[in-house]
Amino acid sequence: MTNVLAESFKVYGQDQGGPFVLVSDHAGQAIPSSLDGLGLSAQERARHIGWDIGIDGVGQQLAQTLPAVLIEQVYSRLVIDCNRAPGHPTSIVAQSDGTSVPRNQSISAADVAWREQTILHPYHQRIQQELDVRLAQGRPTAVVALHSFTPIMRGVARPWHVGLLHNHDPRLAHIMIDLLRAEGLVVGDNEPYALTDTSDYTVPLHGERRSLPYVEIEIRQDLIVHAQGQAEWAALLARLLPQAWQIFCTRYPQSS
Ligand SMILES: [Zn+2]
Repeated sequence: MTNVLAESFKVYGQDQGGPFVLVSDHAGQAIPSSLDGLGLSAQERARHIGWDIGIDGVGQQLAQTLPAVLIEQVYSRLVIDCNRAPGHPTSIVAQSDGTSVPRNQSISAADVAWREQTILHPYHQRIQQELDVRLAQGRPTAVVALHSFTPIMRGVARPWHVGLLHNHDPRLAHIMIDLLRAEGLVVGDNEPYALTDTSDYTVPLHGERRSLPYVEIEIRQDLIVHAQGQAEWAALLARLLPQAWQIFCTRYPQSS
């Protein structure tokens, strides 16, 4: 394919000296026109399988309030999942939560390569660039990955308002879990998913490989489907993340 795409990421907010870099792998819904909506109806594309419902609004307001830079993927996770390593079995899914994705059935190696080169890699290169600049300046930096999860998966209702995911370095996540629980929320600890080296790509690549503190935040989608919920969650995280960072710096002065 030779068609040219619009840029695969958007950057919001401003770096005004804070420690956080916000990233959002599944915030976008766009599908390259050459892929004909992946052969899905608009209704299917709007489901949680296509994007992390509500997280775009949360992320943009959080970036503005903290303030911090937010790097968002603009293409649907059904085109290519930017939280999967290239070549991962669920990088480009043929089926998701009971929905078959027609344009992802038996796709050519050239199409896979095109999606990687035009969507996956530029997004991660932009995150890398943001982190490189900060680290060259010796600045304290923490990666915050923003996601949302569907309230019901395969018929099972999920009880958590928010889930905090972590892997080799749980320190910042554990601090945020305590702060969110103190707000009276039901908080998942590596729920509804556990973060792993292979199931995830963004945090292992940008956080763990650089030994940067990080946290992956998953908010339940019914809480942020509307603008009011998005504003409330952005305000909550804008209040708690700096508190968490202060605690982190006090507790682990060598790594902040
Ligand atoms: Zn997600």
